[in-house]
Amino acid sequence: MTHFACPSLAKALALLPIGLLAGTTLVMAQYDSTDHRATEIYSPVPPVVTPAATVGAPPSDAVVLFDGKNEDAWVKVADGSPADWIVSNGILTVNKKSGNIQTKQSFTNYQLHLEFRIPADITGEDQARGNSGLFLASTGKGDAGYELQILDNYNNKTYTNGQVGSVYKQSVPLANPSRKPGEWSSYDVVWTAPVFNSDGTLASPAKVTAFLNGVLVQNCFELKGETRYIGKPYYKPHGPSPIKLQAHGDKSEPISFRNIWIRPLEPLK
Ligand code: MG
Repeated sequence: MTHFACPSLAKALALLPIGLLAGTTLVMAQYDSTDHRATEIYSPVPPVVTPAATVGAPPSDAVVLFDGKNEDAWVKVADGSPADWIVSNGILTVNKKSGNIQTKQSFTNYQLHLEFRIPADITGEDQARGNSGLFLASTGKGDAGYELQILDNYNNKTYTNGQVGSVYKQSVPLANPSRKPGEWSSYDVVWTAPVFNSDGTLASPAKVTAFLNGVLVQNCFELKGETRYIGKPYYKPHGPSPIKLQAHGDKSEPISFRNIWIRPLEPLK
């Protein structure tokens, strides 16, 4: 049981008396079902986090990955050299001559916010229309990892487990809240990293909850492994990993990003 396991209500309730009997704050000789204090917790105390002044801006404890000024937090996936996407007017745009980029820093469990914009003059169809991707953990070169799809599906059909909001080829999104090309969209994601045993076997799968434009598209989905274009997904053991953004290489105009931040998640102490 981890603190990030999207526990069921039954499991959450099951934990309650265990915490109380452990005597974290409320010292009671015996659980008393008639005493309101028996179901109250006073420690640990959640840390104070100052929320942003505007919705979507980073709160006080966020690690800002792109603030509009530079891409210093990012490197090219191919060779680890400095990222060379285009930074202009506070926006990060895919460099079609370059490839995927990923964060210098690695993460395990986290909350992430990202905004993206499909160009107003987007062309193409199916998977070749505004294709990018948010890799929730980059596990190697190219597209290795776990991709939350980015694609223009405002008026563009494709296989449903490959449209925007999908865990690519694993989980159809619960809704399609796409905005028109030219408008900014937001992703808010909670990622629970997979856990591996010392022998490399899977101890617990990765889980993702995601909101696209404030609409729930993935609800604690348990991944079957890394996303794969061909073949079924499977896991390979890994530790903390970078966040990766995809340069898909479509012929149409590239997509842009802004306001990317992340909050690594730790259990309360
Ligand atoms: Mg993609």
